[in-house]
Amino acid sequence: MYDLIVIGAGSGGVRAARIAAGLGARVAIVESRFFGGTCVNVGCVPKKLFAYASEFPGLFAQARDFGFEPGQGAEARPDWARLRDNKTRAIERLNGIYERMLEQAGVEVFVGHGRIEAAGSVSVTASDGARQLLSGRHLLIATGGKPHVPDVPGHELALISDDLFFLPDLPRRVAVVGGGYIATEFASILQGLGVEVQQLYRGDLFLRGFDDDIRRFVAEQMRERGVALRFNTDVTAIRETPDGGRLLTLADGSHCEVDAVFYATGRVPNIDDLFAPGVDIARSSNGALSVDAGYATSLPGLYAVGDVTDRVQLTPVALAEGMWLARALFGQDAQPDVGYENIPTAVFCQPNIGTVGLTEAEAQARYGSLRIYLGNFRPLRYSLGDIQHRSLVKLVVDDATDRVVGLHMAGDEAGEIVQGFAVAVNMGATKADFDRTLGIHPTSAEEFVTLREVARRVPPAT
Ligand code: FAD
Ligand code: NDP
Repeated sequence: MYDLIVIGAGSGGVRAARIAAGLGARVAIVESRFFGGTCVNVGCVPKKLFAYASEFPGLFAQARDFGFEPGQGAEARPDWARLRDNKTRAIERLNGIYERMLEQAGVEVFVGHGRIEAAGSVSVTASDGARQLLSGRHLLIATGGKPHVPDVPGHELALISDDLFFLPDLPRRVAVVGGGYIATEFASILQGLGVEVQQLYRGDLFLRGFDDDIRRFVAEQMRERGVALRFNTDVTAIRETPDGGRLLTLADGSHCEVDAVFYATGRVPNIDDLFAPGVDIARSSNGALSVDAGYATSLPGLYAVGDVTDRVQLTPVALAEGMWLARALFGQDAQPDVGYENIPTAVFCQPNIGTVGLTEAEAQARYGSLRIYLGNFRPLRYSLGDIQHRSLVKLVVDDATDRVVGLHMAGDEAGEIVQGFAVAVNMGATKADFDRTLGIHPTSAEEFVTLREVARRVPPAT
């Protein structure tokens, strides 16, 4: 009998298993596909490696402004096989590290498909069909999510985000459908790698949920970098062309021909064959497992964390949830302490977005009057030539308390910069605190502490 059986060795599952084992629990973990989960294998890590790759052509082009003649310019395309295979080798090393880390922590590792048979009971089916039954005092589902592709005719001809990481060749022309994190990051990455990219989004402006000034600014900057952004555009059908390309039919009746089409239209909980017939768990409207403040599902002794629940689909959130749960079950923590209020986040498009706290619209709805501070500038590194890359920083300040309730940036290294400021925002820093903090000169980050002019005053929402 185990104290804890975890299904899914991704961000949340690995963290919960290791912490629980460290607290003396007898722990088993079941993984069917890849150690480290989405983030390590087909998410954050390989995506960021490709994002780094996509920055080189811009740097080659810019090198000339700094007196270098590197031989290749902005038109450079990578040796795709070398990039892809180097990435795969780095990820395989990480898979090994994750598996060893679990074993060294004393966690028993099972490779196969896990299924909840009943309260306290998990079956593991290996790829050769061999089946084992495990019993546990507590069970944890951390099976993550999977891409959702809408049911348009020809949708089977579309690629999903997983496919980017293993493409045999880099296509010449690509359409990316969607306007969220993945679509926007993929559009930038592919454009940076020399692919002709159209990003098709169904609404007026992509990146719904981010601050409107940032959304407009990023749209303008991505266009300036060469991504064809097409808003208010819906795909109604996909067909294969005689030369193996893809012909998209759009809602206005027009067509768009590309070599490949990626769909990045959201992710749904990964619960395929996860419950034996008769095991019924409460779910939210999108199929995600419903959990209470302590991550308990409706089945006694069964918990869930990470993307399989209906919360926030980010690795640090899954890690924090897994860690808290393990401590709550086997350690001292009693009260949930995962902070969902000011989750800092970044979109690794070009320019990067970094954000923490409320958008202007959210702050207006929640607080009274606001003061908005904006800085739109051309970073020093672009001042020697005619590259028109710009950055935007924005502070949303609650006028009554002077607290900075939203901090947003679009520009180089926005994720790195906003991570630091997120601590201040979480601590309740005021605009006066920002004002008396000296800048580090010359940096882009110093713009956040030198914003003096109120760009606009926003009245309370009526
Ligand atoms: P996962 O990491 O998905 O792990 C679930 C694991 O469960 C998988 O290994 C799966 O194989 C296994 N599994 C599933 N079903 C079973 C079963 N029945 N039996 C056994 N094993 C099973 N987040 C960020 O914070 N920053 C980023 O930059 C970022 N980039 C992303 C880029 C992409 C392209 C994608 C797709 C996601 C990205 N994310 C990013 C989101 C992040 O990857 C997820 O939020 C995170 O991985 C969720 O962790 P998890 O533990 O819930 O699930
Ligand atoms: P998102 O939820 O971010 O975006 C989904 C996009 O698809 C939205 O623009 C949505 O439009 C659109 N969409 C949804 N359904 C349809 C449809 N039927 N037809 C056309 N468009 C549709 O999901 P992603 O797949 O981009 O990413 C999943 C999650 O993974 C993210 O939410 C994020 O939490 C995480 N992630 C984090 C990253 C990071 O931290 N850097 C990077 C990548 C992923 P609309 O807005 O109109 O609803």
